[in-house]
Amino acid sequence: MDTKTFKRNLNQSEHYHRKGFGHQAEVAGVMNQEYQSSLIQELRGNQYRLRRGPVTIHLAESFGFCWGVERAVAMAYETRQHFPTEQIWITNEIIHNPEVNQRLREMNVGFIEVVDGVKNFAVVAAGDVVILPAFGASVSEMQYLNDVGCTIVDTTCPWVSKVWNSVEKHKKKAHTSIIHGKYKHEETVATSSFAGTYLVVLNLEEAQYVADYILRGGDRSEFLTKFAHAHSEGFDPDRDLERVGVANQTTMLKSETEAIGKLFEATMLRKYGPTALNEHFMSFNTICDATQERQDAMFDLVDLDLDLMVVIGGFNSSNTTHLQEIAIERGIPSYHIDSGDRIGPGNRIEHKPLDAALTIMENWLPAGEITVGITSGASTPDKSVEQVIEKIFTLKP
Ligand code: SF4
Repeated sequence: MDTKTFKRNLNQSEHYHRKGFGHQAEVAGVMNQEYQSSLIQELRGNQYRLRRGPVTIHLAESFGFCWGVERAVAMAYETRQHFPTEQIWITNEIIHNPEVNQRLREMNVGFIEVVDGVKNFAVVAAGDVVILPAFGASVSEMQYLNDVGCTIVDTTCPWVSKVWNSVEKHKKKAHTSIIHGKYKHEETVATSSFAGTYLVVLNLEEAQYVADYILRGGDRSEFLTKFAHAHSEGFDPDRDLERVGVANQTTMLKSETEAIGKLFEATMLRKYGPTALNEHFMSFNTICDATQERQDAMFDLVDLDLDLMVVIGGFNSSNTTHLQEIAIERGIPSYHIDSGDRIGPGNRIEHKPLDAALTIMENWLPAGEITVGITSGASTPDKSVEQVIEKIFTLKP
């Protein structure tokens, strides 16, 4: 399928919207009321530090709602205003935050269910309005919704679209896109739908395996088993790794994406030499500023003398998980929660350790004076952060 032409035609359709509907000011007022916090403003004005009783809070200097998420939520609110009586759907979460999604449910916005990893579009009828989330949607989903006769409101973040443009360029030059991401994550599913030949690598270790294969060859069937579900149909490592381009899921660890880019550049340089490098390797800078800033702020935060960290964000939020990884790497006890409701009753917390199921920890706040680091993922409103801080203060009056 010619994805570029399809997207161009879709952009010209009167049933496709990529901008708001002129209700920005009104929506901004409502969103401020619902998601902003005076306590967080106080912290910002106090060098991101606040002490009450035995508790000192250090807030990361960059955290919470990123530009793309705020824009997507605002567009969803505007869509409700603009289409007051139409059935509105979201595929399948506007962002990875339970409170924001709940708020939209209250506004009578339906969420398309995912059953066994497949979205149930059967509920969508002609004339319905469907909102595509900040992390995008696959080409086949967009095509289906367009064919059904829906109005599409596309809130895909421009940073994500930039990655799609990169993989289109790889495709044009017959390069395989090596995508640093999680192959099941919706953003990566969408990105790979725009790619021609692609391979998704989760981390530097997997990238190293691929780089070794490029230089020295290896066991083809082991390769295909290792990357089952993470490559384009008919992918052949012996044929499809001669020309590669690197792309990324925008919320991966920035340092890792950069290292993977350098690794493949060095690999192709070694294999084909400097004069032929441009024929075998392509890379564009598609690391999102917001992800980068939040990760940098987290590195600053974990340099402080913290007793523990609380990382707030949806459990399926990739950028939040990466913030959690930074704390864990530094050996700081770190609790990933999706809202303040996970704290209590009493001195207990229900949290999600990295790569493990939810677990309950009693007496999670130690006795005496404590210093707590706080940050939140790009889908988390300030109100959720405030709720967590207030609960900590209440537990240690
Ligand atoms: S994290 Fe970056 S790419 Fe993702 S929605 Fe926010 S601004 Fe866009």
